[in-house]
Amino acid sequence: VKNHGRNGFSFFHAEMEERSLERILLENELKKAIEREQFRIDYQPKLHLSTGQLIGMEALVRWDHPELGRIAPNKFIPIAEDTGLILPLGEWVLRHGCEQNKKWQDQGYPPLKLSVNLSARQFFQAGLVDRVKQILEETGLDSRWLELEVTESIFADIDLAAAIIEEINKLGVHTSIDDFGTGYSSFSYIKHLPVDTLKIDASFIRDIHHNKESQAIVKAILTIAETLHLNVIAEGVENEEQLAVLNEEGCSQGQGFLFSKPLSGPTFEQYLKGLPVA
Ligand code: C2E
Ligand code: CA
Ligand code: CA
Ligand code: CA
Repeated sequence: VKNHGRNGFSFFHAEMEERSLERILLENELKKAIEREQFRIDYQPKLHLSTGQLIGMEALVRWDHPELGRIAPNKFIPIAEDTGLILPLGEWVLRHGCEQNKKWQDQGYPPLKLSVNLSARQFFQAGLVDRVKQILEETGLDSRWLELEVTESIFADIDLAAAIIEEINKLGVHTSIDDFGTGYSSFSYIKHLPVDTLKIDASFIRDIHHNKESQAIVKAILTIAETLHLNVIAEGVENEEQLAVLNEEGCSQGQGFLFSKPLSGPTFEQYLKGLPVA
């Protein structure tokens, strides 16, 4: 028993050590990758559920490491957040996303709203709104074609969050609460924030066609959104059954693999070419 305990401990210890090594490695690689701009952006379509019309796209950052291969955002974004590297990385995504969106508009494609994810750390960064304004000026993108997606983690300082969103509103940039419904005080906080859109978390959509509770939560989100005059979008729509429930409940917008996975810039452009002319 004693031996077992020792082995258990050293095993645990070795695993921790390994994990922190991996972590240190990724941190260093992340730093280099930011300097070398080794990222790309994928664009995932957002659609009107009743008409199927394309309304916008979400920018999702991609890191293809030359030796380690593709590293998932869920792996490197938390490290970027902990280390502060999310500030330069997030700014890169914002600038390149706006640049690309403007390019597509200049090429004559129908104008679309680009959604960019902001970490709480980026959102609360001093001077964020000036940065956004500057990027819009530099890229020439009109503010109404940009949306910032923030998560409920900004509820941690609701007064400051509300003040920042008001500033963003003054710029004419849209705002959306991502992963809505997962935080435990979602419903009590949302009335304090002058945002435009609630994005229903994928976890409620996943089993909406089987699970009465998920359906009830979606229903409640739609009701609160209607009362507060907010748009609603469902994320993670993967099949026709989910779509049918969303249509039945009156959710107007959606995003998910049923319509399209995230597409590289060139593939998204092909997708734009194939759209019916409005
Ligand atoms: P998120 O903002 O909630 O983005 C949605 C995620 O769900 C994306 O994963 C997307 O590829 C995936 N997805 C879309 N449709 C479906 C579907 O129908 N089914 C399933 N199972 N998944 C779907 P991805 O690209 O791996 O990004 C993961 C997370 O990483 C994002 O979650 C976001 O929190 C973060 N992230 C990605 N890009 C950025 C960025 O530029 N900045 C920041 N701060 N975070 C980012
Ligand atoms: Ca998002
Ligand atoms: Ca989300
Ligand atoms: Ca998420």
